[in-house]
Amino acid sequence: MDNSEVWASTSKSWVNQVSREPVDLTHCDREQVQFPGAIMPHGVLLILTPNDFRIQGASANTLSWFGSEAEQLLHGHLDQILAANNRETLEKSLALISELQLPRYLGSFLTLQGRHRFDVFAHRSGDVLIVEFETIPVEMAETWPTARMAEISDCISKLHVANTWQEGMAIGVRELKQLTGFDSVVGARFLDDGSFHAIAEACESYFPSVLDKRFPRSDIPEPARRQMLLMPLQYAFDLDYEPVPLVIADQAHEPLQIDLGFAVLRSISPMCRRFYRNMGVQSRLVISLVDQGKLWGFFSCKNATPRQVVYSDRLVLKLFTEMSGLLLVEKGRAEQFQVASQVKRRIGKIITSLFSADVFPVALSQLPEQLLNNLDVTGVALCLDGEFFCAGITPETTVIQALISWIDEQNSPLFITDRLPALFESAAQSLGQATGLLAAHLKRPGQYLLCFRPEVVHEVNWAGDPLKQVEIDAVSGEARFTPRGSFEVWKQEMRGTARAWQFYEAEALTDLQHAVVQLQYTENQRVLRSHLAQSNTELEAFAYIVSHDLQEPLRGICNFAQILVDNSSGQLGQQELKWLNTILNLSGRMSNQINALLQYSRASQQSMIVQLVDLNLVLRSVLEDLSITIKSTKAQIEILQTLPTLACDQIRVASVFSNLITNAIKYNDQAERRIEIGYLENPTLTFFVRDNGIGIPEKFHEAIFTIFRRLHGRNDYGGGTGAGLPIARKHIERHGGRLWLESTPGQGSTFYFTLGSGLALSIAS
Ligand code: ADP
Repeated sequence: MDNSEVWASTSKSWVNQVSREPVDLTHCDREQVQFPGAIMPHGVLLILTPNDFRIQGASANTLSWFGSEAEQLLHGHLDQILAANNRETLEKSLALISELQLPRYLGSFLTLQGRHRFDVFAHRSGDVLIVEFETIPVEMAETWPTARMAEISDCISKLHVANTWQEGMAIGVRELKQLTGFDSVVGARFLDDGSFHAIAEACESYFPSVLDKRFPRSDIPEPARRQMLLMPLQYAFDLDYEPVPLVIADQAHEPLQIDLGFAVLRSISPMCRRFYRNMGVQSRLVISLVDQGKLWGFFSCKNATPRQVVYSDRLVLKLFTEMSGLLLVEKGRAEQFQVASQVKRRIGKIITSLFSADVFPVALSQLPEQLLNNLDVTGVALCLDGEFFCAGITPETTVIQALISWIDEQNSPLFITDRLPALFESAAQSLGQATGLLAAHLKRPGQYLLCFRPEVVHEVNWAGDPLKQVEIDAVSGEARFTPRGSFEVWKQEMRGTARAWQFYEAEALTDLQHAVVQLQYTENQRVLRSHLAQSNTELEAFAYIVSHDLQEPLRGICNFAQILVDNSSGQLGQQELKWLNTILNLSGRMSNQINALLQYSRASQQSMIVQLVDLNLVLRSVLEDLSITIKSTKAQIEILQTLPTLACDQIRVASVFSNLITNAIKYNDQAERRIEIGYLENPTLTFFVRDNGIGIPEKFHEAIFTIFRRLHGRNDYGGGTGAGLPIARKHIERHGGRLWLESTPGQGSTFYFTLGSGLALSIAS
């Protein structure tokens, strides 16, 4: 073998840890932990080509385990290590490993001389196969007896009795300590800021306790977190080891380029090892607790001396932790769900009360008080167009005003923070009232519902000074990252933050926000409609007065024009007489229109006289009044059935029938004009007048109910003012009914009307 081809990484690669970059806390986040170029010494790693399983690389410790130096093994095959039958079995399994990334357990194998037994794992990394041989001490050959499984099953049953996730974690650490025999087992949960908290601990008295201590985010840097997700169980037999470098057969692969992210024997980051060594830990096993793809917490088992946990035992522990993890996460979720649904119920009640409020603006103004009593907040402010409704402890209105202008600029429908003063300077004076803010934007700019929480000053028991991460190298004088050496309680007073808002609180406020916006819209519509109704009433009253008062002078104009015509006795010329007659005609027309307007206004203005009315009598009297027209036009009027007796205003209903029958005769050019009058009972009592007249195009079906709107020339079809139908509709509407039509041009029209609730109409109304 040409030694010049061999590129071996040395422990020198760790020297690079002395930082020449500016020192900051993100240093460890950038560390490439999956490319250490070395492994831990309690096993051997081989790098094989995937097609012919030729050895391309090996860890530099093969001599002690396989009896040959790594360089001697390069380019050879597995028969240098295993007996022929074992080699065949292993290669068959290796052939099944394709793109699969996670290490696959391939069984336990004896070496050629039969001196060592290994658990063998393999996985694909880029274009090579990584095969790992983890030693099994002779005394730990098989640890899968039924008794072991029964033990695990008992542990899981114990977890079920936990009422809370905290209780579950306490049981978990006790059971794990029992199962592993490690000196200390800690259960930790990640907090929102990435730091983690030792919630539970089972620990020997001689081992330093970390119970209830907080660890900064930087104690588990980003690459380590990724690794915890990829490999939920990480184990180091002895942290006080010398990394075993990889020896590679050609220059194509450099040890530091081989991704060992999934390797069971991957050498741990020196920073991480030092961290544990500073804690007095020599053997460690960490099992991640994952919730929906995110790290939720972990169990960390530590031992003061090296402690071997073989794969079969690790597998059992992993099963136990996965089960307990599921239970813990589920318990945590169930507890949160319970609180969340309580909040949702309370907000639901507030929303219902808003929807059923008699006077919405009043209900809205009481909203802050209601929220104060039902949400976990200390102050609420509702800001509506410069008006403030506050409850509880809130900042001064001037501060709120400035705050609103600032939130408006953030342009977000829901604004959430638990450290407002850090974002908005003016809130610095209001720490006591407004450190936490949950703000919902309502309909218009400047309209906000603001919930406040005060600053909570609390003491955190850090496990050592979380910021003490840089030390000066005594020899080189360079800044060097180092894990802190002391884990003694380091108390820190945390200021400037409020209790964090929960997702369900934000959701509750969003629900409320939507409800208020919808109700504001409905309320605006209601106000508009009531303004419209009021101005309509005023307009009708005005039309009534004007039309009434116009009659008098118009009558005067007509009278005097008539006197002039009658007494001109030849003094006026033809032309002047013609003009006078035009004045008389126009005045006559104007008088008709004023009369129509008067009737229209009266239909709205005059009070209803409701009594029980036999509609047969009403119809008979209407037909009598129209008898001359009916006779002269030879119209055939057919009453299809006996009409009911109803509570209604007789004069108004008579006027409606009269108008509809007159129109049915008028707008009809058939030789035989046929008019049918009757009613339908289903679903409501509906009267109709049907004719075989000229019909009305659909686009005019609403237009003909506009006052003075006619579809024909002034004198066509016997003339008219165009006020009949609008007046009829007004009469019907006063009864609470509807008037409408169906019509086909050239075939006829049917006008329908209802009278509100008919017989149920109160006589007194
Ligand atoms: P007027 O009859 O004084 O013009 P109306 O308000 O009673 O006023 O009717 C408005 C318009 O509706 C009429 O000018 C006519 O064009 C149309 N119209 C009403 N009734 C009928 C009908 N039965 N058939 C066809 N057109 C009709």
